[in-house]
Amino acid sequence: MTKRTSSTPEAGFATLGLDPRLLSALTALGYEEPTPIQLAAIPPMREGRDVLAQAATGTGKTAAFALPLLHNIDPTLPPKVRLRALVLVPTRELAMQVAEAIHRYGKVFGASALPVYGGASMEQQIRSLKRGVDVVIATPGRALDHIRRKTLFLSSVQVVVLDEADEMLDMGFADDIETILGELPAEHQTALFSATLPAKITKIANSHLKNPAVVKIERPSVLAGETAKVRQVAYVVPRAHKMAALARILDVEAPESAIVFCRTRTEVDQLTETLMARGYRAEALHGGLSQDQRDRVMKRFRAKGSDLLIATDVAARGLDVKHVTHVVNYDVPWESESYVHRIGRTGRMGREGVAITLAEPREHRLLRNIEAATKQKIDIGTVPTAADLRTRQLEQLRDQVARLLAEDELDRYRPIVEQLAEEHDVMDIAAAALRMAARKDEGEAEPMDIPSVTPRGGDRDGFAPRPARQSRREFAGKVGGAVAKIYVGAGRKLKIRPGDIVGAIAGEANIPISQIGAVQIGDRHSIVEVPEDKANFIIAKLSASTIKGKKVRVRRDQS
Ligand code: AMP
Repeated sequence: MTKRTSSTPEAGFATLGLDPRLLSALTALGYEEPTPIQLAAIPPMREGRDVLAQAATGTGKTAAFALPLLHNIDPTLPPKVRLRALVLVPTRELAMQVAEAIHRYGKVFGASALPVYGGASMEQQIRSLKRGVDVVIATPGRALDHIRRKTLFLSSVQVVVLDEADEMLDMGFADDIETILGELPAEHQTALFSATLPAKITKIANSHLKNPAVVKIERPSVLAGETAKVRQVAYVVPRAHKMAALARILDVEAPESAIVFCRTRTEVDQLTETLMARGYRAEALHGGLSQDQRDRVMKRFRAKGSDLLIATDVAARGLDVKHVTHVVNYDVPWESESYVHRIGRTGRMGREGVAITLAEPREHRLLRNIEAATKQKIDIGTVPTAADLRTRQLEQLRDQVARLLAEDELDRYRPIVEQLAEEHDVMDIAAAALRMAARKDEGEAEPMDIPSVTPRGGDRDGFAPRPARQSRREFAGKVGGAVAKIYVGAGRKLKIRPGDIVGAIAGEANIPISQIGAVQIGDRHSIVEVPEDKANFIIAKLSASTIKGKKVRVRRDQS
């Protein structure tokens, strides 16, 4: 547990003995401080000790093992002896995620991480293994397959990580894991990460870990009472839809004053821009700002000069605001204590506050941990539907009209109504005027539904990932109309992924994902296929908003 008071962003990471280049990589990613599992697991990992860590997905566990193992790699070694670390994971999705994380953190070292899982081309994996990699992230079955074919050699491996070990055992990989561990050189470091520590995990730990550092983060503290006055609700939303979902939730909740907590500076900046673009008075607060800037932002928020404060934990530490009606966790906090601390900022002085948490489908366990620690249930909400939003918008319109009626400054308009009333029913005239007002407010877009997922324990991703590409014919066939290609002036260089483009279109233009076709990501631009009849509308919406926090050029693709 960190109880630092320093607000120097990287100070926490700097105490963990990590290479300075890694520290810069973390700063660039917008990380402000290590998570509890990182604080506890990185030092023993750096010392080369075996580690037994209890940590669920969403606690930052990937970086907890990925950062230290990057110290062991040496990309200049010949391919046959280059492999330094093997990470075993239960699923293909996790293999890809971990590989991506290692790539992100280890770019500065020229680290190469290869995900190896079943169902993908064996030949391609063999070719990559032959060229030489620093870290292999594999599902046990496929790893064993390669070992038997002699296309994967473990003789140079120094670190082995068993990630989500309990899941691997549940999936029946126990024997495969034993066989793989038996192939490792006698001298190696082993780290076992698991969300739970049932007997079968302890058994593996006892036979394979030597004098391990044991790291457990979640303390079974009873924190009930402190959160009693707060209505707690969580929405389970796939990552690509989080921004759109939060915007929708806020539109319906209409908070008077809210703090939105994010994990990284980057997230804070992106979210602030998105919400400002939707007309909220939102301000960013993070460790990248000077103390002066931070003071000013907090002062404005306290004086109700802004409605939404988008903040990282570090920057919001010590912030005590009496009038906060809503606390939003844009990501599930790393630990229950932090959750309780955050939501304690609302529901003051006998008033009911609201705590809203957005969780990705795979983070369901973190929600359960919080429920267990607070002994309170968190309701799972459904993201307001398009119909809910329309109802809410109509209610707001009704209230606005009621206010105008009360002000009674309508003389300028009465003659028009009289004129129209000669030919039309007064009721119809009023309805038409309302329609005009609504249109002006909301544009012509009909809001579409954002997929909401209920967390399920067994299904790791909770929702079926959309295939990365659809062929043009399939897509046109599905949409049943002409297809247009849109050029978006952002690509790999800005770390754009297909999900960002799809998310932006779905969120900003309210186009259902099923109507969005193939996305091709280039270095500096991307091309996405959309229904021809929606193309101009999408271009207008995307041009007026941001992708990953950046304004980008959007037009029809001429190629
Ligand atoms: P994991 O539990 O490894 O799946 O990580 C959950 C998420 O937290 C990932 O999106 C990471 O990029 C992010 N993350 C990990 N460590 C930190 C940190 N120290 N600060 C901010 N974000 C982090």
